[in-house]
Amino acid sequence: MARIVVVGAGVGGLATAARLAATGHQVTVLERADTVGGKLGRYAHDTPAGSFHFDTGPSLLTMPEVFHDLFEATGAKLDEYLDLVPLDPIVRHVFPGGGPTLDSCADPVEFAGRIGAALGDRAAADWQRLWRRAARVWQASSRDILRRAVDSPRDLASLAWRVGDLAAIAPGRTLRGLAVGTCPTLGCGCCWTGTPPTPAPTRAGHRRRLSRSPTPS
Ligand SMILES: Cc1cc2nc3c(=O)[nH]c(=O)nc-3n(C[C@H](O)[C@H](O)[C@H](O)COP(=O)(O)OP(=O)(O)OC[C@H]3O[C@@H](n4cnc5c(N)ncnc54)[C@H](O)[C@@H]3O)c2cc1C
Repeated sequence: MARIVVVGAGVGGLATAARLAATGHQVTVLERADTVGGKLGRYAHDTPAGSFHFDTGPSLLTMPEVFHDLFEATGAKLDEYLDLVPLDPIVRHVFPGGGPTLDSCADPVEFAGRIGAALGDRAAADWQRLWRRAARVWQASSRDILRRAVDSPRDLASLAWRVGDLAAIAPGRTLRGLAVGTCPTLGCGCCWTGTPPTPAPTRAGHRRRLSRSPTPS
């Protein structure tokens, strides 16, 4: 067993540390902030009108299966700690200047209908195209990139022959280029990774799919 230092106590660092500790390693976590959690945090602002609290990062558990897996690997059950509640609406988009209000939901057909009602048929068609592409990006990246280390030129080369996957991921294209009408609703998915919505790469679209699909396939 090894002595291991994990730098950063965000969700990623804490999950890594917990997995390593559960397999018997001696783990030290270093965190430069005053508190753990990283982007997963709360900000309180006191005013004469009262105290206001804001989530600084995540508000949705995007991939519950990853957390189920983490808890099981470290000897616990997620359900014993958290009550996971499906939301509708997931997010309410309010457009400025008296524009429409759009509530997103988990059902893609229902959501496309809501987009059509709020933003028009072209936006709904845009969304459905983006949704199909996001499914292909997810299929192309989930097994071989998100769940497997790609840390050598050989690993990378083994992925290079998949031309169809590359076409789906479309390096060089942006979300705006793919989905003009619905682009305003994509912004919140992109900010999770710190990307402004306009130049966000196409692959950022799959985040929107994840936040709507409990069991992405
Ligand atoms: C506004 C917003 C909304 C989001 N909403 C969602 C959501 O609803 N659902 C979802 O699944 N995801 C969401 N995300 C994404 C999610 O927050 C991140 O993917 C996740 O929190 C990243 O965790 P991390 O551990 O990789 O990084 P971070 O949370 O950034 O943690 C990194 C940690 O490392 C520390 N650190 C860095 N350098 C050093 C150093 N040299 N020494 C010591 N410590 C160091 C930092 O202080 C920090 O605590 C959102 C993100 C944002 C910004």
